[in-house]
Amino acid sequence: MGVRVEHSQILIDKLQYKCNGVRGEYLPPASYSLVEQTEDRGVYSFCMCPGGVIAPCATSEGEVVTNGWSPSKRNNPFSNSGIVTEVRWDDISEFHSYGPLAGVYFQKSVEEKCWEIAGQGQKVPAQRMIDFVEGVKSEDLPKTSYYPGITSVQLSDVLPKFITKALKEGFKAFKSKMKGYYTNEAVLHAVESRTSSPVRIPRDKESFEHVEVKGLYPIGEGAGYAGGIVSAAIDGQRCIEVIVNGKALD
Ligand SMILES: Cc1cc2nc3c(=O)[nH]c(=O)nc-3n(C[C@H](O)[C@H](O)[C@H](O)COP(=O)(O)OP(=O)(O)OC[C@H]3O[C@@H](n4cnc5c(N)ncnc54)[C@H](O)[C@@H]3O)c2cc1C
Repeated sequence: MGVRVEHSQILIDKLQYKCNGVRGEYLPPASYSLVEQTEDRGVYSFCMCPGGVIAPCATSEGEVVTNGWSPSKRNNPFSNSGIVTEVRWDDISEFHSYGPLAGVYFQKSVEEKCWEIAGQGQKVPAQRMIDFVEGVKSEDLPKTSYYPGITSVQLSDVLPKFITKALKEGFKAFKSKMKGYYTNEAVLHAVESRTSSPVRIPRDKESFEHVEVKGLYPIGEGAGYAGGIVSAAIDGQRCIEVIVNGKALD
């Protein structure tokens, strides 16, 4: 869980291609991949979208969720990426009473807080990058690709403490890993909460069949066996191989 950060594509091109912002005609909009092991957990970029947009991805009333995507031409003026950190079972003890669905209720609680604080619509809470790290509410926010709009808040008011702490350390570290990345021109949008499923439906390792329900094959992202298009597709393909051939190819 974490945030979706957005820079201008010109800035990312400048940093990655060491150009003045006008990349060569045969170069694609630049991407990046960042990772940092902070004091107690990893912080990393996820689903980086060059020339893309940040999209509203809520699935129920009363919540906001961000995600990003790029059109095939990658020709939007913005560049966005999830910057996230891991959530462990011990982090969500107040939700343990929900049993195997604890992660789902934890996720929902943060998404609902974001909805509440940003105006109870599809606007998302946002803060400039350095302001977030320094704990200052942003006085103003630039235009971003997030179409429903953004509301200036202290993101530490909506994100759990362990996530705020890890993200702050991560952004500080990214400052030296990619010079120019750490800037108040970048805006953090909350919350990036659907990077992977918070539940896993149990299945037999060999047959892919549910451990109790015959004929049920939990596959793909929602069942907890994939995170992204390719891993979901491969999981589905392997399951079909088992059903048809009795064995999945390696
Ligand atoms: C905005 C956005 C951008 C993304 N960008 C990327 C990207 O760039 N790269 C990447 O790798 N991944 C990306 N992802 C993630 C990717 O889309 C998912 O990881 C992937 O689609 C998961 O595949 P799946 O088959 O497991 O699930 P899904 O694609 O979600 O398929 C599940 C299907 O089940 C159907 N369904 C649900 N409930 C029922 C029901 N009760 N009865 C019948 N049918 C039902 C749904 O309608 C859906 O068609 C993105 C996701 C979003 C939302």
